[in-house]
Amino acid sequence: MKVQTIMADLERKHPGESEYLQAVQEVLESIEEVYNQHPEFEKAKIVERMVEPDRIFTFRVTWVDDNGEIQTNLGYRIQFNSAIGPYKGGIRFHKAVNPSMLKFLGFEQTFKNALTTLPMGGAKGGSDFDPVGKSDAEIMRFCQAFMWELWNNIGPDTDVPAGDVGVGGREIGYMYGMYKKLAREYNTGVLTGKGMTWGGSLIRPEATGFGALYFVEHMLAKAGKSIKGATVAISGFGNVAWGAATKATELGATVIAISGPDGVVYNPNGMNQQKLDYMLELRASNRNIVAPFAEKFTDATFIPGKKAWSIKCDIALPCAFQNELNGDDAAELLANGTWCAAEVSNMGCTPEAIATFQNAGILFAPGKAVNAGGVATSGLEMTQNAMHLSWSAAEVDSKLHYIMESIHAACVKYGTQPDGYINYVKGANIAGFMKVAQAMLEQGIV
Ligand code: GLU
Repeated sequence: MKVQTIMADLERKHPGESEYLQAVQEVLESIEEVYNQHPEFEKAKIVERMVEPDRIFTFRVTWVDDNGEIQTNLGYRIQFNSAIGPYKGGIRFHKAVNPSMLKFLGFEQTFKNALTTLPMGGAKGGSDFDPVGKSDAEIMRFCQAFMWELWNNIGPDTDVPAGDVGVGGREIGYMYGMYKKLAREYNTGVLTGKGMTWGGSLIRPEATGFGALYFVEHMLAKAGKSIKGATVAISGFGNVAWGAATKATELGATVIAISGPDGVVYNPNGMNQQKLDYMLELRASNRNIVAPFAEKFTDATFIPGKKAWSIKCDIALPCAFQNELNGDDAAELLANGTWCAAEVSNMGCTPEAIATFQNAGILFAPGKAVNAGGVATSGLEMTQNAMHLSWSAAEVDSKLHYIMESIHAACVKYGTQPDGYINYVKGANIAGFMKVAQAMLEQGIV
């Protein structure tokens, strides 16, 4: 395999799809060496097949807003790869959603899901619907209209959507209600991230953030460091940021920053229960601003227009959106003494940022390993649904611990370089790739 040849071909077929091309390039560069040691992969054209989604559904979503105006959005579901199990991945509602974004996310999801140890293929969906400023009734009508188109293409053993940016428990509830009405199927396992009274799993809301911190703990332990007493800067203030802030605080770190599109909140005294609860209120308000946090808690300061990466910290945790931490941000963090960065958002760092961290030799781990606890716990939710029972929080949490530990071990196995530096990007990509590639190979040319 020649990465340049495959990338040139992909660019020709998908011009301008920058996030998608970025995600593929990163994986291909990581796996090139290993791939070339496996002529059977080359012969079966595994890479050429793996970089293209199995299929894409594109649909129109029309709904009526509170003023009685008719609104039309675009909806998508990308079923990327089913080599190791039914399609699985979240749904994103954000004004910037387009096929490139969802293809990058579906591609990442395929490898991430492979890392979880559970049998789940990769998928992603979403819409350019912008939840900011929408009423609860508008959100409900939109979710219902979205599911009206999607229901026929999903199922507990076919494709299992979940939440992502802009889609949380409330949206999953509205979509699930409509799914049942249309499908006349009462399988709770068709969606994950459900409410606790109707098939949801304990710990699922916390799982992405908690899992990320378990991964970070392993990464630090391996490097002879501890999170206790460390300062942590987090971007975002939604569900993922909340879970990460909660667990980081519990483990003895000081969460000194959270942020939003409007700026950063400098929070020198760290989090407490009231502050953590307020993060959830802020997300549910649909205003997409973080400034009110500093109005409510006077020991915190809001700095408009600044990112979380302008705050001096030991550990940086991007928890918001792709490419939210660029090369300049990485340089600023390094100058301020940051010694660990872990992507909790999908592809949170640009390639320049990753290179900056790795060249400086600091600890860095990619989203597909760090944030895999979210989808892994979705997998555990599917298992509970299939068995028609629910596990205790302690049971789910202990399984999540085990999964994050094994993902870390896989990264170390495939990512340790001759000089001892652990390249977690390479480790995660190779480990995920080997599993999916082997499954594809054994299933023939399909
Ligand atoms: N959207 C999350 C992710 O990026 C969770 C997906 C899921 O639970 O299916 O992994």
